[in-house]
Amino acid sequence: MPTEHDETAPSDARYTRQAALDVVGAQGQRVLAGSTVAVIGCGALGSTQAELLARAGVGRLILVDRDVLELHNLQRQLLFDERDVREGLPKAAAAARRLRAINSEIAVEPCVADVTAANVADLIRPADVVLDGTDNFETRYLLNDAAVQAGKPWVYGGVLGTDGTVMTIRPGRGPCLRCVFPDPPEPHLLPTCETHGVLATAVLWVGALQVTEALRLLLHHPLPAGATLHALDVWHGTARAVAVQRHEACPCCGQRRFEFLHGQRGSSVAVLCGRHAVQISPEGPSAPDFDALTRRLAPLGAVAVNGFVLEFSAADRRMVVFPDGRVLVLGTTDTAEARSLVAKYIGS
Ligand SMILES: [Zn+2]
Repeated sequence: MPTEHDETAPSDARYTRQAALDVVGAQGQRVLAGSTVAVIGCGALGSTQAELLARAGVGRLILVDRDVLELHNLQRQLLFDERDVREGLPKAAAAARRLRAINSEIAVEPCVADVTAANVADLIRPADVVLDGTDNFETRYLLNDAAVQAGKPWVYGGVLGTDGTVMTIRPGRGPCLRCVFPDPPEPHLLPTCETHGVLATAVLWVGALQVTEALRLLLHHPLPAGATLHALDVWHGTARAVAVQRHEACPCCGQRRFEFLHGQRGSSVAVLCGRHAVQISPEGPSAPDFDALTRRLAPLGAVAVNGFVLEFSAADRRMVVFPDGRVLVLGTTDTAEARSLVAKYIGS
């Protein structure tokens, strides 16, 4: 229990309005100061979460992201500005700089890395709660495996267009992601924010709900058994709460087969030697619909289909999609960048 001389106690003035809440209080504020949250992905959702957590006084934030900032991020990623883009900063680094300016009393630890089966357990180990700020299902299923294996709560969140989804996963006390969505969606059928668009207000609503869920977990607020899937539509101002149940047959939390963590599921990535290219293979049999992909990608760059492959060029990168679902990203040997480009344009 911190005393008034405890150096780790948060300064009172900063948090008076929050500590005045019945659901937080002075003791709750100290609990937050002693808490650690990992934010996986620092794009729209993750940067929103990180800022709210920093302002709320969560004592230690671990920020993980594989990407660098681009101008189009500024439409919805409120933590960043034009200087960050000009400097070409990784999102995790830019977020850390801004968060330290917002709250110098907390510890912010940026980690510029691709979340993989090899590092996900280490990344989430120090955290009391993990927040999903990712933009692809491949990473979410990996995170679900790692969190269930470690018995660590995490809050799923997704946004597309003007809609969003939030669900808190408490391993052992309710359903996991695979109880509700047993398999990732077929990547090539899935619209992405780049092809479908995203409204910043939808991001903020989802991020705010995810952080609220995280605070409830950190403060040990009584939570009902089971779980709720929140489906938000910011354009129409509607929110639906659907009760979701755990399934004993769930391969992840029921049978404890961590297929994504152990590489039995999930795409594989290979740097192609001498080719200055990265190949990303789908997790299973896949047959991309080139016509649908052409329609989605045409407004975003140059698309060409030659009967064998689909080629897409945007900015200074070229991607080649094969009939078996493999994607070759040309002009880079950076696997994190290649995975990011494929998640953005082709689907996770
Ligand atoms: Zn499950």
